Amino acid sequence: MRVLLLNPPGKRIYIRDYFCSKTTKSNYLFHPVDLLVLSGTLAREHEIAVLDCMAERLDPEAARARIAAFAPDAIVSLVGSVSWDEDREFLAREAQRGARVLAIGDVLQEASEQRLAENAWLEAALHDFSSEDAPRILAGERDEFCDATVRRADGSIARVRRGPRKGSFRVPRPRHELFPREGYRFSFARRAPFATVLSDYGCPYPCTFCVIGTLGFKTRPVTDVLEELDALRARGVREIFFMDQTFGVLRERALELCGELERRGDLGWTAFTRPDTADDELLAAMKRAGCHTLILGVESASDEVLAAYKKGYRASVVREGFARVKRHGLRTVGTFIIGLPEEDEASLARTLELALELDLDFMSLNMAVPRFGTPFRARALELGLCGPADLVMDQGGADAFLPTSTLDRGAMLALKKRMVRRFYLRPGYLLRRLASVRSLHELRAQAREGLALLTRNV
Ligand code: SF4
Repeated sequence: MRVLLLNPPGKRIYIRDYFCSKTTKSNYLFHPVDLLVLSGTLAREHEIAVLDCMAERLDPEAARARIAAFAPDAIVSLVGSVSWDEDREFLAREAQRGARVLAIGDVLQEASEQRLAENAWLEAALHDFSSEDAPRILAGERDEFCDATVRRADGSIARVRRGPRKGSFRVPRPRHELFPREGYRFSFARRAPFATVLSDYGCPYPCTFCVIGTLGFKTRPVTDVLEELDALRARGVREIFFMDQTFGVLRERALELCGELERRGDLGWTAFTRPDTADDELLAAMKRAGCHTLILGVESASDEVLAAYKKGYRASVVREGFARVKRHGLRTVGTFIIGLPEEDEASLARTLELALELDLDFMSLNMAVPRFGTPFRARALELGLCGPADLVMDQGGADAFLPTSTLDRGAMLALKKRMVRRFYLRPGYLLRRLASVRSLHELRAQAREGLALLTRNV
């Protein structure tokens, strides 16, 4: 079969992957990890092409021409709540032209049977891209899945969830070479080109606002990850963005991977972790293995909020974690969730104070949104902050989706913009940023990202 892996066109630059969707917060765009993983799985049996209309900035007309030239039998497409109306219209027309359409995305994570019932063009929704579900559906299977929603020949629709949701999983080497060489941007990369790599799937923690914690947790064998990294190195890639949501959660496995990367000695990389996960031994191993930047969840300065949303650590642990990372000479990115129902002006001020105290290299503010399939969404529905029919939303912080108990959406957005300006427009911070730049590529990337971020927050 000819199978097209598609990131559809849109009016803005959307990031749709890993069951989240948003407009880009500054200017970054990385490879959609769902399609990367599926490229390996599907290339085993099918002729595969990748069309990433976000990376290539293709408008719908140009995208249709490219799709027609490939003439796919089936399209496996990303969709997102941020662009759901546009995605539906585009994909319905492709289905009319004869392609089978499978889709994956946040908006299909909840009430997926209803979404299929409303959208006759959609044959199936994938809920686990690390599984074999996509090739099984294309082969006509309708009952045995890890987690998928399918339309059957008799017209019935069912979500089948048989797992496994933990343990290990194997995927054939993701086919990075099928993705565009240009068009992806990542401000923490120190060299170009960079590649996005996933060594595990899901997350074992239960943070209630986060969809990744609802997916289970599975890991790839280290040897498979190394095979993928070596293939990238052979193509001249020296910069990696590990999309694992908590690097080092299985400590021995992480140490093994770091040891192998250190032996290779030629990769630089960025990863996510938690302030309570990486101890001194692991951080030292990561640094030796080429890690230069760590993205760590802070979320809030309030212990009450951290407990209410099941983060599993207190603000004091956050302080210790960041101090440890800095001691090992790694750059820090702190991510925060703001605009939860408990938020008020004073709590936002405390969050900014904490961001300044942690001496972060970068601050990433995420506006709370009721992500599909999360306990937080169930609570937001209960509180009447959103309705079950609210399918279109942006997790990128360009807008505030929810009011809080004391702030309306407009006030929340204005305060968030002020926080961004206060953090990034400190003269001392800007000088430090400039002094830390190691290459012309990095200087250009940071200037571009910084400008885009500030333009969005004036
Ligand atoms: S640790 Fe991070 S990825 Fe895991 S559930 Fe919590 S917020 Fe999500």
